[in-house]
Amino acid sequence: MQNSMQEVSRQISKYRGILPQGVQLVAVSKFHPAEAVAEAYAAGQRIFGESRADELVAKAAALPDDIKWHFIGHLQTNKVRRIIPHVDTIQSVDSERLLRLIDEEALRAGRTTYVLLQVHVAAEESKTGFTPDELLQVAARYAHELRAIRIKGVMGMATNTDDSDRINADFQAIAATSQRLRQILPEATEISMGMSGDFMHAIAHGATMVRIGTDIFGSRY
Ligand SMILES: *Cc1c(COP(=O)(O)O)cnc(C)c1O
Repeated sequence: MQNSMQEVSRQISKYRGILPQGVQLVAVSKFHPAEAVAEAYAAGQRIFGESRADELVAKAAALPDDIKWHFIGHLQTNKVRRIIPHVDTIQSVDSERLLRLIDEEALRAGRTTYVLLQVHVAAEESKTGFTPDELLQVAARYAHELRAIRIKGVMGMATNTDDSDRINADFQAIAATSQRLRQILPEATEISMGMSGDFMHAIAHGATMVRIGTDIFGSRY
């Protein structure tokens, strides 16, 4: 069930209280209405995550301009041009082709787009992203070639499991990938990891950004 508006504000305040300094909250508003985003905004939240291009564009048009929209889902190449004018950060860059296309479209739009490279460490095959080695190869290849993109770091997800050893191992692997990335791009310091069910583990492993949906807005179904 969707959380009430008071509950949304309460949760935003709660996260402001519990997240350590240096850990940003991305409020994942996918599938929730613009009114729920407006409520979180009124409580002071400015960074929101969406996983569908059309939904991001519609909400961006309806909501205040100082919101930073982060795209966190699998991005189809034919949707890149649509979201570029609205998006601050694309967290889910999972192919070289997508990276090149974002650069082209951002250049064309006269914008800088921030990106995170998505690393796949979870057990599920269905999750997307580069392997750690691929990610580093791509970063090395494009480090000095991108014109309108700034690579800010990595994004990843742990396996969806109750096994906290596995979750911790996954976050450790994402953090290790970040450390290797910083040898190539010292400024790429962001580590986006941790969701409603596992963010405390993510923070313990060095997350600089957590992506919380259900715990703020309620369930999406
Ligand atoms: C939906 C989603 C989240 C938020 O998950 P919750 O469990 O609802 O907090 C975080 N990251 C990604 C990539 C998502 O798709």
